[in-house]
Parts: sequence; structure tokens; C-alpha cells
Amino acid sequence: MTTLPDWMRLPTGFFTHQLVDRPNPLPEAPETPERFEAIETRMIAGGLDRFVRRVDCGPAPRDVVLLAHDADYVEALERASDGDPEAQRRFSEPDTKVGPDTFRCALASAGAVVRAVDALFERSVRNAFCAVRPPGHHASRGRAAGFCYLNNVAIGALYAIRRFKLERVAIIDFDAHHGDGTEEIVAGNPKIRFFSIFQWPFYPNRRMEPTPMNVEAAPVEAGADGAVLREILETDWLPKLERFRPQLIFCSSGFDAHSEEPMAQLKATELDYAYLTRRLVEAATVVCEGRLVSVLEGGYSIGSLARSAVTHLQALLRTPEPS
Ligand SMILES: [Zn+2]
Repeated sequence: MTTLPDWMRLPTGFFTHQLVDRPNPLPEAPETPERFEAIETRMIAGGLDRFVRRVDCGPAPRDVVLLAHDADYVEALERASDGDPEAQRRFSEPDTKVGPDTFRCALASAGAVVRAVDALFERSVRNAFCAVRPPGHHASRGRAAGFCYLNNVAIGALYAIRRFKLERVAIIDFDAHHGDGTEEIVAGNPKIRFFSIFQWPFYPNRRMEPTPMNVEAAPVEAGADGAVLREILETDWLPKLERFRPQLIFCSSGFDAHSEEPMAQLKATELDYAYLTRRLVEAATVVCEGRLVSVLEGGYSIGSLARSAVTHLQALLRTPEPS
């Protein structure tokens, strides 16, 4: 009988925070508290909550946030949340409006990712799903965009590199929208490889030219289905991932490439998310003892978001096969 290594017996963490139920500052925005509620409700209905280790997280420390963001931007976000009209002018777009809770919510989202990184290296969890809002991948060093204020995944990656002296970290972004903020923050960082699939041309229409050396960009046309995603993963990303041998893998997990999603025109299904996650878990098993931190990004059709995120969580939970 094969004996499982100790790390394979560790649970999956479900990292969230107390402010995840706060309303979006823009009342008509599709980025709503119902997104989290639907995921949590479906997770509980499926009995998965009995198998995850739930961790309610506090704010990310300021010095950790500043690994990914300019100090003047973070100060402006805080002042805008405190009601300073001059600072609020920096957040005047409808999808970057700031309310009284925005700064604290953004800090808590980033804090959940930082806590998940610690938990992986403390060996209290094998992998993690950070069910957080606001999302982060459109936020760049000095700019909020697309309901994102602080770049949760970039903060987590840069924190992991500093705290645990990592040399190689991978970020896989499979949200339907380009993770332009993440790309800008990590561009040129030799310790980070950023893999991003996204509908193109499409919002946010901000790609760096030329594509930075450490970025693997996979633009796909409107109408692309899950077979296209699987093909890119199998033929391009997984071989590159195995050669890069990351010590930690992050996923920017947006579920808005789903066919029911009104905010994009891709045609993925829950089965594609299950497949994608299973293959990434297998890669993490081979290269980094399973260490994978998944961070919720987009996904606005509540039904398909909840089904897809819970399918993703289920795939994270499965005990990997010993090789
Ligand atoms: Zn998106």
C-alpha cells in the first residue's frame, strides 16, 4: 500500500474576511455581496464546508501592500474612503467608486491572500481558495480599475517571495478579462512568471507592448470555448510550468469565461473549470508539494459563478494521487 506524504493529508483552506458582505459603492454594479453568498451557500449545500478549513482573515499589513502599490496611491485610497473629496477624484470612474468601507474591504481581501500564503508554508493547509471581494487583478501600482482597488494576487506573490525567500512563483489568471494590473506590477520580475488567458480585443484593452519576458499571454477571440482553454493549458502552459518549477502557484480565479456570463463572451463550463483546476493541482503536486493559492476575481452571473467556484473548490479538495 502506498503511504501518502504528510502534506497530502492536509486540508484545503477557505480563506475569507468579515467585510465580504459589504455592498459595492456603486449600487448598480454587478460586483455584489450576493456573489460571495452564493458561493458559500452552494459550498454548504454540497457539504464541502465540512472538509475545508475556514479561516476568517484580518487586513494585510501596510508594508506588505506597498510591495505591489505606490504609497501615494494607497494613501489616496484610504483618504477617499474617509470621505476626502479631493482624493475621491482619483476614483471617479463608475467601477472605481470608493465608499466608506472600500479601503478596509480591499485590505481584508489582500489580507486573506497573505494569510493563505502563511498557512501553506506553516503546513496548516495544502492549498487554499480565497473567497474574497473586492477582486484585484485590474488594480495596478497606482490605479484602481474594474472593481479592483488592491491587487490581491500580486500582493500575495510579492509577500511570499519576501517572507519565504522564494525564487520562482507562478500566477495563472483564467478570468475572461486580462489581468492588466497584475501584468503591470509583475512585469520584468525574474522571480514571477505570469500566465494569462483572456478575451481579446476586449476590456480592459491594456496590454503591455512588447509582452514582458516573464508574461505568457494567451489572447482568445470572443466565442472561444473550453476546448480552447484546455488546449492552451495542455500544450503551452503546463510544459512551461513544469520547466519553470515554481515553488508556489497562484491562480487568479475569475469565473466569467462561463457561457452564462453576461460580462464576457467566452463559452467555458463548470466541467472546464474542474478540468483546469485538476490539472493545476496535479502540476502543483509535481513541482511544489501541492502549494496553490486560488484567489477569486470576476464572475458576475450568480448561478454560474457559484457552480463554477464550488466545482473549482471540489477539485482543490481532492487528495492528489501520489506519483
Ligand atoms: Zn473578469
